[in-house]
Amino acid sequence: MKKEFKETLKSKGRTEMPAVLLAAAECAPLSKTGGLADVAGALPKALAALGIDARVITPYHRVVKEKYAGQVEHMFYFYVQIGWRREYVGIEKLVLDGVTIYLVDNEHYFGDKIYLGGEAEGEQYCFFTRAVLDAIPNLDFSPEIVHCNDWHTAMIPMLARTQYPGGMQEQLKFLLTIHNIAFQGIYSYGFVKDRLGIDDKYFTYEYLNLNDNPNFLKAGIIFSDKVNTVSPSYAWEIMTPDYSEGLEEVLAYRAEDLSGIINGIDKQVFNPAADPLLPATFSRGRLKGKAVCKAALQERMGLEQRPDVPLFAMVTRMTGQKGFDLVAAVLDSLMSNEDMQFMLLGTGDPRFENFMRAAEYRYKGRLCAYIGYSEELSHLVYAGSDFFLMPSRFEPCGLSQMIAMRYGSVPIVRETGGLKDTVAPYNQYTGEGDGFSFANYDAWELRDAVRKALDCYGQKEVMAGLISHAMQKDFGFELSAQEYARLYLCML
Ligand code: ADP
Repeated sequence: MKKEFKETLKSKGRTEMPAVLLAAAECAPLSKTGGLADVAGALPKALAALGIDARVITPYHRVVKEKYAGQVEHMFYFYVQIGWRREYVGIEKLVLDGVTIYLVDNEHYFGDKIYLGGEAEGEQYCFFTRAVLDAIPNLDFSPEIVHCNDWHTAMIPMLARTQYPGGMQEQLKFLLTIHNIAFQGIYSYGFVKDRLGIDDKYFTYEYLNLNDNPNFLKAGIIFSDKVNTVSPSYAWEIMTPDYSEGLEEVLAYRAEDLSGIINGIDKQVFNPAADPLLPATFSRGRLKGKAVCKAALQERMGLEQRPDVPLFAMVTRMTGQKGFDLVAAVLDSLMSNEDMQFMLLGTGDPRFENFMRAAEYRYKGRLCAYIGYSEELSHLVYAGSDFFLMPSRFEPCGLSQMIAMRYGSVPIVRETGGLKDTVAPYNQYTGEGDGFSFANYDAWELRDAVRKALDCYGQKEVMAGLISHAMQKDFGFELSAQEYARLYLCML
């Protein structure tokens, strides 16, 4: 065990690291729609290496049942009351890569999609919340800390503290991680009162309500012992009205207990030195394979076969969050004035999809818009591109820029959230830095950053330095796990 942790434990009069139960709506590789699943999947493994027994509790979604039914062990079952319904809760256990995962089984709530949408989704996760709280005393494991994630599990602390007097639930410590503050779980008084049986005295601005409606994420922020988000910069940003989605006052009230911890990436999955999805592998000191990947990408995507031309790429959901309006504003100016290629892999808002399709038509051979989702192609795009664009309006953490850097694709990002915390802008005087950045959400600032990148592309040594710095950065989950371990320890 790290000396630092030993000393902290000693100062608290104990020798054991805390036991942690992570509650999450999705967990990779079982179920995944976004970054939350990656964290729930990777964090317990990395925590185990630090001596922390971290286990996961997550719904037994249909997609999980389809794949893992043969490997789970039934532990016990009970019933919970949700409104007028008496609902079955099965607790199944699955051990995967050494991590114990408790699966909450109920065909009615988890027999379809991971997120049902609307009130059905609210009820789905009210049920999950109740099931988790009632299951905890009967698990073959006694957690001291429950680590909740996003609004779907954010009601756990409040219910534990207000509805389980004298129970072990009331004694637990709670951490709430906010992965994206844009989603808060807002339902009507009648809905929440019915599903969770909350006492009327909590439907006030002091506790559950925000703008006259119960707000699950807000309750989580108020009732958790600590709150964190997925990058230090995003932790600051969400205390301001521009980024807080209305929660700035509540977060300012909890400012002393709010922190930011950057997520990591899976260094085994994203490893240019041994990536089976690439036509050639490469590493920091051995970049020949990267040139092979670039040629393969150009050929596959119908781009002109030119090793010398700078190739810019994006792999992204095509939404307003990701800065597509900035790209749309400057793309023509860049494509008509600069010698460059552009490759997009993405899907999302039809407005942006159509814009990119039309751009492909205008710049055939120099620009490719692959509208769709392809894990396999994404690896080739990261490996075969020279620069990676991520001009996000907001970005809680962002994984793509980290993956790009690991594959030697130099990032061009807006200085927000996790992008600001992971990309060090190039300094032409010292040669330091591993990417390019711009501060304001402004299309001309993006264009200038791209031009700066183009300028550096022409200078072989500068470019080699940038690639080398980017590939050298360590974005493994081990560092995040250490930060989480520190946070758990200070909650004891
Ligand atoms: P967000 O979670 O907001 O979408 P992140 O940067 O945190 O953004 O993570 C995005 C992840 O999804 C990255 O691993 C990226 O490679 C992947 N991704 C996004 N769009 C696509 C796509 N169209 N095809 C393949 N992978 C994609």
